[in-house]
Amino acid sequence: MEKCIFCEIAAKRIPSSIIYEDNNFMAFLDINPLNAGHTLVVPKDHARWVYDIENFGEFWEIAKSVALAAVEALKAKTVNYMTLGYQVKHAHIHVIPRFENDGHGEQPVFGNVKKIPKEEMLQIAEKLKAAIAKHPPKKAATASPIIVEAEKVEEPKEEPKETRSEEEIDFIRRETESG
Ligand code: AMP
Ligand code: ZN
Repeated sequence: MEKCIFCEIAAKRIPSSIIYEDNNFMAFLDINPLNAGHTLVVPKDHARWVYDIENFGEFWEIAKSVALAAVEALKAKTVNYMTLGYQVKHAHIHVIPRFENDGHGEQPVFGNVKKIPKEEMLQIAEKLKAAIAKHPPKKAATASPIIVEAEKVEEPKEEPKETRSEEEIDFIRRETESG
């Protein structure tokens, strides 16, 4: 079977610029960056598509941390996320920092790869790593949904209303007393 390059990176048999790692996930710089700080977040265990990942929330929390790190440490104006997965068939989220006049349009242009010298890539990785370490990703809650049964609300029992007039009541009282 063909070797999966991201499985090789996750097993550290192939080097990469790792900026984050925990038991289940890893984030490293894309070797063909569309902008400085272009990162790929991957599960360590092979999954074909992003929706195949069990801890989906945790996975995206890491993408969020990478994005916030790019804003803080690289002064990105904003950040785009993309999931494609046709070139490398191992689920991954592209986290692409965006800058003023960065050569892309409203959407990142995939052919527009930036040539970033190795030394600068190392510096970018160090900056992102430090910023992520300061604000690590939240572990997604594993709480099971709480199903609250709708409480049965008893209709208030209405007291029968007195519809007789005071005069009628007086008359009835007198009649009963005399009779
Ligand atoms: P896609 O499958 O279309 O989402 O794209 C896969 C991405 O993986 C591309 O942006 C590649 O530049 C990137 N890529 C491929 N090999 C490596 C590698 N060894 N290290 C880092 N990024 C890689
Ligand atoms: Zn894989």
